[in-house]
Amino acid sequence: MIVLEGKSVFNDICIGNISFYKRNESIIKRYKVEDTKAEINRFHEAKEEGKKQLQALYEKALENVGEANAAIFEIHQMMLEDLDYCESIENIITTQGVNTEYAVGTTADNFSAMFMAMDDAYMQGRAADVKDVSERLIKILTNAQEGLNTLVDDVIIAADDLVPSETVQLDKDKVLGFIMQQGSANSHTAILARSMGIPAIIGLGNELNESLDGTFAIVDGFEGKVYIDPDEATLTSMKKRQKEALERKELLQQLKDKEDITLDGTKINIYANIGNPSDVGNVLKNDANGIGLFRSEFLYLENSDFPTEEQQFIAYKTVAENMAGKKVIIRTLDIGADKQVDYFNLDKEENPALGYRAIRICLTKKEIFKTQLRALFRAAVFGNISIMFPMIIAVEEVLEIKEIMKEVQEELREEKIPFKENIEIGIMIETPASVMISDELAKEVDFFSVGTNDLTQYTLAIDRQNQKLDRFYNAHHKAVLRMIKLAADNAHAHGKWIGICGELGADTSLTEEFLRMGIDELSVSPSMVLEVRKRVREIDLSK
Ligand code: PEP
Ligand code: MG
Repeated sequence: MIVLEGKSVFNDICIGNISFYKRNESIIKRYKVEDTKAEINRFHEAKEEGKKQLQALYEKALENVGEANAAIFEIHQMMLEDLDYCESIENIITTQGVNTEYAVGTTADNFSAMFMAMDDAYMQGRAADVKDVSERLIKILTNAQEGLNTLVDDVIIAADDLVPSETVQLDKDKVLGFIMQQGSANSHTAILARSMGIPAIIGLGNELNESLDGTFAIVDGFEGKVYIDPDEATLTSMKKRQKEALERKELLQQLKDKEDITLDGTKINIYANIGNPSDVGNVLKNDANGIGLFRSEFLYLENSDFPTEEQQFIAYKTVAENMAGKKVIIRTLDIGADKQVDYFNLDKEENPALGYRAIRICLTKKEIFKTQLRALFRAAVFGNISIMFPMIIAVEEVLEIKEIMKEVQEELREEKIPFKENIEIGIMIETPASVMISDELAKEVDFFSVGTNDLTQYTLAIDRQNQKLDRFYNAHHKAVLRMIKLAADNAHAHGKWIGICGELGADTSLTEEFLRMGIDELSVSPSMVLEVRKRVREIDLSK
């Protein structure tokens, strides 16, 4: 038995086999071939297999996310039949006498550069598609592993760390837990684990490596330990612990339908964070009274092109309808920093967390922003939607957003498309600048929601992704708590409400302090809703 130690980000236990994430950094080798006809045959076979895979993906998407979202897989199938694309590949094989993988890779580079150089935004968007489709062919040709989305059994996912575009591809039903070489408590793998309510340990180091792929293991999220090839005694005691954890979860279920109220009668709203319409099931199962943060960028991360207004409208409408009149706070696109999307073609930056992200992209690329706002205003007719804007640092930004909102509403009115006029708007308080001017910002919006993940990163000047800084990272740092208090006082002074939607909101050792600050709402991972409710119901603010 080997024991690895790291830092736990969700307290639970899982037992199963490790599946080590294989990242596809397909380095394509160029080599000469004698038999070019055989290479062309390989190409045709790979193309047929690619079409079959895409058809299966189309059917799965049709069932899960509807026709509009599934259409992309149809487009990809058509691309594989495109005459220019196929001729280019065959031509490179014959004239240069080289292997198919190289011909596919070169054609992908040439075509995507050609699309990118076009003036038309739609054609530019095709650049990512041609790369995606070619990547699929190369995987087939090289028999590369498909990353995580072809999981057959329930497994413990191991990796160096996963980026959001990788986690969105997960077949989540098959994941028992996460174990990461690196990662930080605020990384998106950690957030995902908490929202799924499964154990996750980060910072396990290089002892966790590919040689452990397929090995039997226990993940102890209470102690931050991974037992590889556990002995009988450990297995027995961990199974017992796992059973106790399950019993505690069942006990928490008794808090369903109970009010979020302290012993002295102070009420608070406990909401849940989601990244996708399919997370709503978990929200309802855990009895959250609303959604305090819908990270809409996950709709963009899942797509290989900008999600259309219709796609977004359907996603927002579905969530609003399923929440049946309960509040649903949708945050506009927060792309950038660790959430990179290929088709945005963002430049590589020295300091991406301090870079071109979130509202800065929306205010620069107004068309993308307007499409999202149109979808939101339209969907708001079907439920209780509020809109929230990320990474605000200035009052001028809010004023500009309001102008754009007016413009969008005017357009919808002219087009006679039904939409909701008066919609509650709020901003994320996640930069020290927004805290310091929260008195002025409070006059312009209906609510604040504190994003403690970024607020801590920017206040302490500690990269939230950098595990090496863990010993300096104090989630309870006075500076952060004072910032939250200042924003709360300023919100209340202007009659506005304030919530916390960052991970700190679920830290039950701070619940009392937050309530004493007058925090009105805590939005936490669905799996933490009942834990926080339990804590709230134990607190007596009169003492
Ligand atoms: C935050 O910064 O606390 C937050 C909720 O947003 P995200 O984690 O998506 O950056
Ligand atoms: Mg944030």
